[in-house]
Amino acid sequence: MGESTAKRVVVAGAVIDEGRFLAARRTAPPEFAGRWELPGGKVEPGESAQEALARELREELGVEVEALDRLPGEWQLKADLVLHAWWAPLLKGEPQPLQDHDELRWLTPEQAFDVDWLEQDLPFVEEVVRRLDGT
Ligand code: C5P
Repeated sequence: MGESTAKRVVVAGAVIDEGRFLAARRTAPPEFAGRWELPGGKVEPGESAQEALARELREELGVEVEALDRLPGEWQLKADLVLHAWWAPLLKGEPQPLQDHDELRWLTPEQAFDVDWLEQDLPFVEEVVRRLDGT
């Protein structure tokens, strides 16, 4: 068990544009509604993490991103589900809350903690702030 258990991965994206990153406010499930996240979703079988993130952000926000590299760390969401996050510069489009979110906000590093992040996203947000600050 443990090591051999098949784990599903949720990929979240730190969507980056002009020195800011994107925060998205969830509409569901009830326990997460109103909380902010780095948008993303589950990697489907046969898909790479980068492909999954590009697909999810196309569906949810109507944008094209490039998942460039993974941010350090992993958060265990459930026994068989882990959260990863990727640095994902915006390539094309203006994000719209098409699915799963009711508000989007571009945040500068100074504004990074102005929104109520899901606890599991906080270590990734801290890393994004360090990168944007160049430290
Ligand atoms: O968005 P979706 O419902 O596909 O996400 C699957 C799971 O990953 C949910 O439990 C969601 O709360 C979680 N998640 C998260 N942080 C994110 C993105 C998703 O905890 N940034």
